[in-house]
Amino acid sequence: MRRARRWDTGRFPALPGDHVSSPVPSRFDVVVIGGGASGALVAAHLVDGAAPPSVALVEAAPVVGEGVAYATRRAEHLLNVRAAGMSAFDDSPGDFVRFLRTLPEHAGEDPAVLGQRFMPRRVYARYLAAILDAAPPPLQRIADTAVDVAPVADGFEVELALGARLQARAVVLAVGNRAARLPLDPAAAAAVAPVDAWDYPAVAAIAPEADVCILGAGLSMVDVVLTLRANGHRGRIVSLSRRGLVPLPHAAPAPAAAIDIDRLRAMDLGARTRAVRALAASEVAAGRPWQGALDALRPHGQALWTSLDARAQARFLRHLVRHWDVHRHRIAPEVAAQLDAAMAAGQLERLAGHLVSIEPGARNAIAWRPRGGDAVRRFEADVVVNALGMDKRIDGGSGLPARLCARGLLRPGPHRMGAATVGEGVPLDAGGVPVPGLWTLGTLRIGDLWETIAMPELRGQARRVAGAVRAHLGP
Ligand SMILES: Cc1cc2nc3c(=O)[nH]c(=O)nc-3n(C[C@H](O)[C@H](O)[C@H](O)COP(=O)(O)OP(=O)(O)OC[C@H]3O[C@@H](n4cnc5c(N)ncnc54)[C@H](O)[C@@H]3O)c2cc1C
Repeated sequence: MRRARRWDTGRFPALPGDHVSSPVPSRFDVVVIGGGASGALVAAHLVDGAAPPSVALVEAAPVVGEGVAYATRRAEHLLNVRAAGMSAFDDSPGDFVRFLRTLPEHAGEDPAVLGQRFMPRRVYARYLAAILDAAPPPLQRIADTAVDVAPVADGFEVELALGARLQARAVVLAVGNRAARLPLDPAAAAAVAPVDAWDYPAVAAIAPEADVCILGAGLSMVDVVLTLRANGHRGRIVSLSRRGLVPLPHAAPAPAAAIDIDRLRAMDLGARTRAVRALAASEVAAGRPWQGALDALRPHGQALWTSLDARAQARFLRHLVRHWDVHRHRIAPEVAAQLDAAMAAGQLERLAGHLVSIEPGARNAIAWRPRGGDAVRRFEADVVVNALGMDKRIDGGSGLPARLCARGLLRPGPHRMGAATVGEGVPLDAGGVPVPGLWTLGTLRIGDLWETIAMPELRGQARRVAGAVRAHLGP
């Protein structure tokens, strides 16, 4: 890690709207921006233990701890990790299962059996809420949107949308996932006004007879199809994505395959790909599921990514990423069965190709070009759903990360994904220098770490970021 230098506010230009002084600010030791799973866990760790710092947890949504993933109230939306893998604490692996057993509906259940189940995501929201409820008073929740973070003499000033300004010696950016924009020019995209796949009530409100075009074929597409089916959907459902690949199912619980990670890391991308394919094939030949090969890689995702050079990473992103995604981000077998049933019945059609345009009207006219072809084809849909997943870019557009890029406090990460960071998530400023007192975790670290968006990574990051912040604050 490059040495962080002392704070120098002169490094960052003033932006329009900057205030030279502010009315009596609220002071905290730490402001955590974003109260999804990541921010909630950082905050809970910060106030845990003796002499905790004062912490403000700023969350734009009405409920803290849910973020995008766990805000769904729909029973059909399941975790894509078995309960045994979903502890919020890396030093207490059985914590989520122990929580489940405190619920009347699971009391007395065998923890070994419970741990193998894929629970509804709304239950995970209750778990995170319980963790936050147990956090002591130096944690203050603030329901507002942080619109700016400006360096001041002894830390930062965080500006909130409703006008308040919070002063803090340290700030943690836990802003998480933002929906990707439609791949159309902004005016055309705005005219379409798609339903957001992460707006669960809006998806549930789609009329059962509507013809629906879902843009994307990943986990969010699966969520949408599940909800439409749960509501007795009768209209046509079309998923349009570049490759038409959908997430694959988890296998029955089995040990991960044996793999020599150090040997794999020493290989170039092509050799690694061949080695993993060969391992999967040998698992199948031995009567075991191919998933065991991917499970063997799962804990080493960051090491595998960081041991590729930038050119190899770019090749992975260009040619392999979608194959990686459908094998790595798998779905519960019962969810896969629903998806298969929808496809077998002709209710869900998968198209592989590029979106060319959408002409909104009484019905949306969707033009697309099949993968590998030139001819443009067309179909109509009453509703367009944006299930394109997360926007990995932070520069350009609106939102806090873009503002901080403009301010020079953040710079885009490798391959323009997330923010450039070092150490335990200290962002690099526009000049490539670590910003002391500022941390980030989760999705914002995707360019640096790649494997950084799911609980098995977030829980460790949350604990380590909290530890680094407390060390920064001193005794
Ligand atoms: C649909 C879906 C399903 C998933 N399922 C699983 C799963 O089963 N298992 C698993 O391990 N992972 C899953 N994930 C990955 C998931 O992203 C992580 O588990 C985790 O929820 C990420 O939390 P986060 O806090 O980093 O981000 P987010 O959940 O995106 O939360 C960020 C929060 O920050 C708030 N925020 C953002 N900007 C501001 C601002 N400027 N001011 C105030 N508040 C702000 C947002 O309102 C939001 O609440 C899933 C992800 C998605 C999208």
